[in-house]
Amino acid sequence: SCTMKTAFTSDRRFLDHDTGSGHPERPARLSHTLAHLKAQPWFTQLQFTSASACNPDCLTSVHDAALVERARTSCTRGLPYLDTPDVAISHESFDIARLAAGSVLALADTIADGTADNGFALVRPPGHHAEHDAAMGFCLFNNIAIAARHLQRHHGLNKILILDWDVHHGNGTQHLFEEDPSVFYISLHQYPHYPGTGARSEDGISRGRGATLNCPMTAGAGNAEYTEAFSEKVLPAINDYRPDMILVSAGFDAHQDDPLGSINLSTQHYQWMTEALMDCADQHCDNRILSVLEGGYHLDALAHSVSAHISTLAGISTDP
Ligand code: ZN
Repeated sequence: SCTMKTAFTSDRRFLDHDTGSGHPERPARLSHTLAHLKAQPWFTQLQFTSASACNPDCLTSVHDAALVERARTSCTRGLPYLDTPDVAISHESFDIARLAAGSVLALADTIADGTADNGFALVRPPGHHAEHDAAMGFCLFNNIAIAARHLQRHHGLNKILILDWDVHHGNGTQHLFEEDPSVFYISLHQYPHYPGTGARSEDGISRGRGATLNCPMTAGAGNAEYTEAFSEKVLPAINDYRPDMILVSAGFDAHQDDPLGSINLSTQHYQWMTEALMDCADQHCDNRILSVLEGGYHLDALAHSVSAHISTLAGISTDP
């Protein structure tokens, strides 16, 4: 049985965000992962949270209203992409992207009000590349940034920590909070790599100096290098900061099998990193962790890693 109350959200409608044939950020990422999760004996013990699309006001808490309007009209008009060719869209994408953000907010509410200890949002499109005024890198709206602001404004949480272990640097999230010490952004990512940001020297701006921590990882790095970065940089930074909640930009494209990265994490290492964050959350914030899917493009690696991550959050030890 579970030692944690773990919430979970996903929705069949996420499959309606059609990115076209050959696009790595495809509906099968979710359907394959969900089928694998449903086969796990612990799956029914999760607290299922349903959601509705967030309204434009929640999007404009971090985004320019012009981006929201451009996203809406681009989808309505049937344009093939938003802002850059890699952000492929279909007629449904604006509503589905709002549903992704709304799902993360519903999960944030569930954790902030104590109904659950922690939770995972299996959503798409992802969010961490989306900038204040531009879609980018498969991302329309920055789901986790919207959740961070929501937790501060509607639940009175002061200090939010975002840990981003997607293989790509979360340029959008960093830029949105780099002048704001109330949101600490930590990223481990392959470097140099897409999108080009995330050098160690990028450590925040003006009042936010010190509340951004980049851990660039060389192509070929794996479990040992991530363990060292966690032990020497990431965990001490979290423990110094003493966050009121930990948010995870949980991409699984640093997995050794992933086609979009050259980092060699094992499935089991996602379990190890999850446990390390849970120790911090236990010390500082009553176990509160909100984890949100970002990338991950090898279907089996994604499904198994998400499963290891969620079962660890729920306090179940399994062999992935
Ligand atoms: Zn990624």
